[in-house]
Amino acid sequence: MTEIIRLEQVSKEYPLGAHKVQALKDVSFSVDAGVLLVVAGPSGSGKSTLLNLIGQIDVPTRGRVIVAGHDLSGKTPDELAELRLRTVGFIFQSFNLFPVLTAEENVEFPLLQMPEMTKPERKRRVAPLLELVGLTRYARHRPNQLSGGQRQRVAIARALVTRPKIVLADEPTANLDHKTGSGILALMKQFNRQLGTTFVFSTHDKKVIDFADHYVGIEDGELRFLGLRKEGRWVVRDEWRDRRQAERRQGDRREPARSDPATDSDQGTLS
Ligand code: ADP
Repeated sequence: MTEIIRLEQVSKEYPLGAHKVQALKDVSFSVDAGVLLVVAGPSGSGKSTLLNLIGQIDVPTRGRVIVAGHDLSGKTPDELAELRLRTVGFIFQSFNLFPVLTAEENVEFPLLQMPEMTKPERKRRVAPLLELVGLTRYARHRPNQLSGGQRQRVAIARALVTRPKIVLADEPTANLDHKTGSGILALMKQFNRQLGTTFVFSTHDKKVIDFADHYVGIEDGELRFLGLRKEGRWVVRDEWRDRRQAERRQGDRREPARSDPATDSDQGTLS
């Protein structure tokens, strides 16, 4: 498997008055290309910060972020913007569509930043994607004429239109009812399987976690669990077991995270 994302001892601090908020502390992990990864943890645990660093809309205070083979350290804002355009698509919990643009114009929008794309080429990209998300009939509708689930489908098509290697979805189901949210997750999984696009989505909802096949658990800005699904069950990644064993040898008796899919059974299979 090819590695598509790597974080090396990443910390992020935000200034807050005279103090600092430590949003991420010394987080290291890697992600293989083509997986459907969930970043799970309670509200305020650092999920959005993590996605923003991978998505190159923020930079770490310490540590290195490597995306699609590019070390993001020391890149200029212009270089980051270009890399972002070519490597990642974003889906947000509040959809973030332009209210004055139609569904098809919203999907087309990222392509306007690619000078090599002609108008006919842009149309040829947008139409099949709108069809794949089931919105051909709604192409000329504005966001306020669409339901929440339909808006999120527009956002998925927009995230995919540049053919990114990675799609980042920050709590994509948080503003949707359970059934609509499940439909959105199923659609993301379908694109993950069909296109091989790596999907990273965050959630604080345990019901949503099982849509993923890889799992990063964070709490209070710290990495607490790395898992993957095997035959329908969560198992601990070897890398994480080795790290925990090394920490134990050094006398670290940290409590298991509340955000783990099970309590501290990191010696083997989780159910
Ligand atoms: P989550 O997505 O898990 O809810 P966040 O990454 O949004 O968590 O936030 C992690 C921590 O960092 C929280 O304590 C939050 O208040 C803080 N934080 C996030 N963004 C900022 C910011 N721009 N300025 C100050 N503090 C921030």
